[in-house]
Order: sequence, then C-alpha cells, then structure tokens
Amino acid sequence: MEPSGAVKSRLRRFQAASRPARGAASEAGARIDNHGGFFYAAARIATILALMQDAQPPKTAATLLGPEDPAPFAVVNPQGRTDLLLFCDHAGRAFPARLGTLGLGPRELDQHIAWDIGIAGLGRRLSASLDAPLFLTAYSRLVIDCNRHLDDPTSIPQESDRTPVPGNRGLTPDERRCRQAEIFAPYHTALSALIAKRLADGHVPVIVSLHSFTPVMNGFQRPWHVGVLWNRDPRLAVPLMQRLAEEPDLVVGDNEPYSGRDGHGYSIKAHAEALGLAHGLLEIRQDLIAAEAGQERWAAILHRVLKDVLGRPLLHEIRKGEGVTP
Ligand SMILES: [Zn+2]
Repeated sequence: MEPSGAVKSRLRRFQAASRPARGAASEAGARIDNHGGFFYAAARIATILALMQDAQPPKTAATLLGPEDPAPFAVVNPQGRTDLLLFCDHAGRAFPARLGTLGLGPRELDQHIAWDIGIAGLGRRLSASLDAPLFLTAYSRLVIDCNRHLDDPTSIPQESDRTPVPGNRGLTPDERRCRQAEIFAPYHTALSALIAKRLADGHVPVIVSLHSFTPVMNGFQRPWHVGVLWNRDPRLAVPLMQRLAEEPDLVVGDNEPYSGRDGHGYSIKAHAEALGLAHGLLEIRQDLIAAEAGQERWAAILHRVLKDVLGRPLLHEIRKGEGVTP
C-alpha cells in the first residue's frame, strides 16, 4: 500500500532526525573484534532495533501523527563536542491532534502529571554551555511515557498521581502500537544511533538523564532541591552527589525522591546500564526551575558541578557488571 502523505511526512522527519547517525550500527560492528564493549553495544542496539520493529503498527492501522503534529522528539546540538549526552524523557506536553487532550482540562495539563516542568529550558541551557547533545521528547508522558518499558502498566497511564486519564481507557492493541511506533520508538532509536555513532568514533559518552519532580507528593513536602538516582554504577552518581553537596544551601537526595533501584525507569537501563556507560539521573525540584531565572541559576550550578566531575577518566570507560549494590 502506498504510504499516505502523513506517513511520508513523518518518515521524512524521522529520517532527517536520525540522518547524522545513519550507518552507526555497522561502524560499531566493525569494531567488534577490537573491543568487547563495542560488541555488546552493537548487540544491544540490534536488540533495541528488533524491538522497534515489533512496535511497528500493522499496515492497515491508521497512523496517529498527522502533518500538523510536531515530530516526536528534538535533538539540540547533535554535533556537541563533549563526551556527554543529555536527554529529557518528559520534556514535552504536546498531544497528537487525533487524541485531543485525552479528556483532560487545562489545569491538569499544566501540572507535573503531563510533563517535567522547567526541564526543557534547563536542558537547553546546559546543552549550550557544556556543548553536549540534548534529546527532548515532544509529547506528554500521558500519551506514552518514554521512560517506561512498553509492557509497564504506566507506559500509557490510566491515571497519574490520582488523576484519571479518560483518553487512555479501553485502548485497542493497534492504538497502543501506534503510540509506541510513532512516539516511543523514534526517540529511542535515535538516542541509540547517536550513542553508537559516538562509540564507533572512539568516544565513550557519559549519559545524564534530566528530570524534574513536584515539590509535594501525597501531602509530603519534599525537602530535596536536587536528587541523584542511580543503581549499581557509582562512577558518576557518587562524585556528582559529593560535588553538589559542596554548593551552598543545597539539600541533595541520594536516590530521592525516587530510586534508581526500583526498576521503573527505562532509558538509563537501555542506553547506559546495558552498554556499560557511566551515567546518572538528575531530578530537580520543579518550583526551582519553573521560571527562566531558576533555569538559568540551575544551569549554572549543574554546569560547574558537571565540569568538575566529568574529567574523571573512569567515566569514559565501558564497564560491564561492575559497581556496588549497597
Ligand atoms: Zn521525569
């Protein structure tokens, strides 16, 4: 069947987004004999690409995104020269025109349940000042959460922080597959491709995932200004927490307000842990970065903290199966 105009348009935009990294998997494959890490990276990328194939919608299904909808993600500074890769899984709060606003009103759409307030502005500033590539999702996590496994019940949440999401009830398998194939898959495929390209070029990137958290959850006033989430690899997380604690008047959470060990997150596992890349997930409290002045302030803090920490040589090695589990 000839692709519709909308499909062609989507395809063009995805091809354009992934173009700098095309051929990266084969380049990584060429290094297989030289480096076990590259072998693992190539195998892992092949697995991810196979999963993405599974996420393709059947040919008879209507497509979700139309020509008027934004591309599923943006890459800022893709040629950034530092060995640091930034991404924000919950940056955007767009909704595909076909889905309306999933039955939610403007009040809900302004809240943390729809997106990570302030994180895109902070990420853009940090990407510019550190000269690092940055991936930003465009669609609300309520459409599909790019930081959840596809089989996680909260991948397409029926409720979030006690707010029901009417437009996510009773979805057909085809409707779920459309969201997976058109929003989740292109974002993660492009992230994988850029990482593979960097590895093939002999650079081992450090992965930093940026999120923001709501100041109050279930009536609890969260005391942290910033938290570092991590699991088994302490290479970045521990020095990052130590350096953040040297900043005046900062309350730094160690696996707070969430834990890197609870198994919920997808992106750090897929793009860092599985490849043996040093990594950390940063959570910044939303009231601190909701306005531009706060984003400026926090970009400056994270700039100097990351600058101090990123020079450590251990961070730029591929390390599989190492680290500590307290
Ligand atoms: Zn988030």
